[in-house]
Amino acid sequence: MSSSAHATLIVRLAPAKLNLTLAVVGRRADGFHDLHSVFVPLALADRLSLAIAAGTGGAGRTGQPDTLHVRGHDAGPVADNLVLRAIAAARAAVGEGPGRPPTLPLAARLEKYIPVAAGLGGGSSDAAAALDGALEAWGAELDPERRASSALAIGSDVPFFLAGSGALVEGRGERITALAGVQGQPGVLLVTPRVALRTPDVFAVFAATRGHGDGSIRMTSEHLVQELARGLSAADLVARAGVMASANDLLPSALLVEPRLVGVKRALARTLGRVVGLTGSGPTLWTLYPSLAEAESAAVVVRAAIEAGTVPSLGDGPPSIIATTIRTGRTGHEEPAP
Ligand code: C5P
Repeated sequence: MSSSAHATLIVRLAPAKLNLTLAVVGRRADGFHDLHSVFVPLALADRLSLAIAAGTGGAGRTGQPDTLHVRGHDAGPVADNLVLRAIAAARAAVGEGPGRPPTLPLAARLEKYIPVAAGLGGGSSDAAAALDGALEAWGAELDPERRASSALAIGSDVPFFLAGSGALVEGRGERITALAGVQGQPGVLLVTPRVALRTPDVFAVFAATRGHGDGSIRMTSEHLVQELARGLSAADLVARAGVMASANDLLPSALLVEPRLVGVKRALARTLGRVVGLTGSGPTLWTLYPSLAEAESAAVVVRAAIEAGTVPSLGDGPPSIIATTIRTGRTGHEEPAP
């Protein structure tokens, strides 16, 4: 991940993710759940820039706090933002002492394009970008194990984003196996209803009602991993959309926490004539297309259906509707595709 436009300005793209499968394999002693999940990065990305805070360059550690300015989607209180937690975690991991570069205060700017608390991993991706970008800003190195453990301490999805490509994600989120992935750029339509669906609530309902999946979704997930290891075309992936849409162990729990999602999911499927899946713990719903152009056409259809009232709006307004693509290759290097 790197694209610094200037020696002291670090710029990172922080992509969203889609879970093509999400099998919950069991509950762990630490309260988290073990997963078997195929994660793919999307072209939809936030943009994070980091600079050494003004007045501190070369002057050594000042004790001045890191700062963060956020534009775009409302990401909640700045003090709780994972970008600041990630910079603090990076600073702690680098440590202090002889031979270590000074971990000077950073000024961060975040442009949020990824809907917040949506199942798209935006906050975790911002954190991975901040962890990696802070190290570059300071000229600091961390061994891979230390980077990975710092990432996991921030959140379960952060190690995936730090790894920077499509992957099989296992354990709580710490075991990442890169996958060759998808050839071409399949289009994805994302519809995010304006309802708060908190990941811990969805996992809590899952734990209370089932505690583990029935094994069939894990088999689907394992099969998809084998297919992705060989490489799948965009058309092959779209042909598997039905299987993938039902390969999310968290779906029934998410629908229990927010029953109104059932109606939105059905209405989208009816309107688009496609199967509709849920990413992660939701509430974002997805449909797949062979190309970005087709996903963009579908976005127009959904906007019209929302205006006509045939797809319901939940919460305080119409859902966020975004057409994007699944990214192949490593993330963070280039400007985002539309
Ligand atoms: O790690 P993160 O803060 O993203 O997790 C949020 C919550 O989701 C956790 O507190 C836990 O309740 C649940 N979770 C889980 N198993 C995972 C990931 C998250 O139970 N693998």
